[in-house]
Amino acid sequence: MAHFAQLRNRMVEVQLAGRGIRDRRVLGAMAEVPRERFVESGFEEFAYEDGALPIAGAQTISQPYIVALMSEAAELNPADKVLEVGTGSGYAAAVASRLAGAVHTIERHGDLARVATQRLAAIGYDNCVVHTGDGTRGLPEEAPFDAILVAAGGPTIPDALKEQLAVGGRLIIPVGGFEDEQLLLRITRRSEAEYDEETFGAVRFVPLIGEHGWAEDGTRSASNHVPGRARFGSLTEMISAAVEPLPSFDDPAFGASFDRFARSRVVLLGEASHGTSEFYRARGAITRHLIEKQGFKIVAVEADWPDAAAIDRYVRRRVSHGPTEKPFERFPTWMWRNADVAAFVEWMRKHNEGKPASERAGFFGLDLYNMRSSVAALLGYLDSVDPEAAAVARERYGCLTPWQREPSTYGRAVLTEGYRKCEAEVLRQCQEILTKELDYAANDPDSFLDAAQNARLIASAERYYRIMYYGGAESWNLRDTHMFETLGHILDAQGTRSKAVVWAHNSHIGDARFTEMGAVRDELNIGQLCREKFAGAASLIGFGTHTGTVAAASDWDGEMEVMRVRPSRPDSYERLFHDAGATSGLLEFRRDESLRRRLLEPRLERFIGVIYRPNTELQSHYAEASLPQQFDSFLWFNETHAVSPLGPQHRPTGVPDTYPFGL
Ligand code: SAM
Repeated sequence: MAHFAQLRNRMVEVQLAGRGIRDRRVLGAMAEVPRERFVESGFEEFAYEDGALPIAGAQTISQPYIVALMSEAAELNPADKVLEVGTGSGYAAAVASRLAGAVHTIERHGDLARVATQRLAAIGYDNCVVHTGDGTRGLPEEAPFDAILVAAGGPTIPDALKEQLAVGGRLIIPVGGFEDEQLLLRITRRSEAEYDEETFGAVRFVPLIGEHGWAEDGTRSASNHVPGRARFGSLTEMISAAVEPLPSFDDPAFGASFDRFARSRVVLLGEASHGTSEFYRARGAITRHLIEKQGFKIVAVEADWPDAAAIDRYVRRRVSHGPTEKPFERFPTWMWRNADVAAFVEWMRKHNEGKPASERAGFFGLDLYNMRSSVAALLGYLDSVDPEAAAVARERYGCLTPWQREPSTYGRAVLTEGYRKCEAEVLRQCQEILTKELDYAANDPDSFLDAAQNARLIASAERYYRIMYYGGAESWNLRDTHMFETLGHILDAQGTRSKAVVWAHNSHIGDARFTEMGAVRDELNIGQLCREKFAGAASLIGFGTHTGTVAAASDWDGEMEVMRVRPSRPDSYERLFHDAGATSGLLEFRRDESLRRRLLEPRLERFIGVIYRPNTELQSHYAEASLPQQFDSFLWFNETHAVSPLGPQHRPTGVPDTYPFGL
């Protein structure tokens, strides 16, 4: 017994507290319930291992962590009345019985229900009643419930369970594939008719079988269909039913629709072009909400670090070290110097006003193209904190001087003209700054992060321009790895609870492994690296459009033009959304497993960057991808419009002429 108590305490410490379960009552209940008495005979010695175990009827007793996670998500109070669906061994019901006033648990296998009843009685947990039956119908005679925990994965959320929640009640349920991964959801009943929804990451449960769940063979039960949705409808009918319409950007409900991603460490918001107003406005509305209501304090964008740092100083009211250049002066200026970004920047500054420095939301750039400004900013910083070190750095960076304005020629020069490489110097300089963190960062950690990132950027950029000359995947991979590592440094600088929203093109934030880029060209990207590092705590949201206008150039360094976007091709994902008739809305793939499966087969997807060439659109802008694997969700706008650039010739009326975009 003492031996099991020891194992139990260790399980609580390592598997639960160590993984982020914080609720002390949940940790206490997990430390109290003897799991060894709920496993099959002969499995006692494995009772505190970190996994599910088999029980009778080809079912499982859930992994301790999952039981704790669901109990924590349910926020159980001592007076609560709880329903658990899927009694299995009775273990999770026993844990709930320690946290709530009364627990009803229902199991479809009579044999399992009988054994669970005996176990619970033997231990003396007398506030727990076991029922036999189909839990997808709930337990109407005992409703309403303060919490409902479903321990098996269904294809959708059964309405019967939502209806049996008390107002304020929480339903915790895994929804997704049959014998496949599901998404753990919490549905909170806000009023008679309103429900909020949040996600708690990917899980894997046995199937929920019943009238409002799966049929035994893995098809959906006949009654489990949203009225009006044909059972085997066409793909466009299924998309039409699954796309959730969204209100206008200014309606607070727009941002609130993204609360489901709020538990993520990083929410990555894409775009299908660099010049579309709706994409920027949607990202602005989502990000404002996540900052205001959900504790996100980092906005990290596909922009050059030193340029974004100027915006960050403006929005966080930080001081500048030395002279700085106006941000975003280089091609393609409209990508950040546009009315939608300016409005968002003004909002950030206002939001931060009056808040202590640690509470302010910051604006950061992930990209490495503006090496010249990084060198200038870093030297300015060193001049102010350590003039001797500044002199050494000046000498070291001197070897880059001939290429600072046109760094793309550096690779060729190194290769063909026998120039000395700057690699060793820039690396040494970067290492030296990083070792000075204790001295430099004490008074002003934000300026130190800025300087350290500039030093890292110069080292990455030196290598980037050197290898860019060869073309191929290596320079793309270096750039995306640099952007991903920069994101990591920004998150680290704000501690373990920091959360970031990333704004970058779909080609950077959609998991490259499920696109031609990854599969054929061996390219990786930020989205893939985030999934590998943060798993379920990264949410990848792609954006798409059918037609409209876009701000773009015909050639690199060319003039910005407002161009018509051709209607999407008949063989593209975009055309499916268009044919589905949705003007705008969000499709979360894991919410509808049959649709997700039908969309898996790769199709064409359109990628417009800063260049748009409608005449060679297929070759220049379409690539194959598997959309539901590339992204977790897809935000759709059927018709979109070009951004309004901020420039003397284009300044729209009503946009204030202020720093940092002042012209
Ligand atoms: N909570 C359990 C425990 O702690 O041991 C684990 C349950 S196991 C993962 C899922 C259980 O859900 C299985 O015993 C399965 O028979 C049951 N189940 C599946 N569909 C059900 C339904 N419609 N109604 C009631 N029980 C169901």
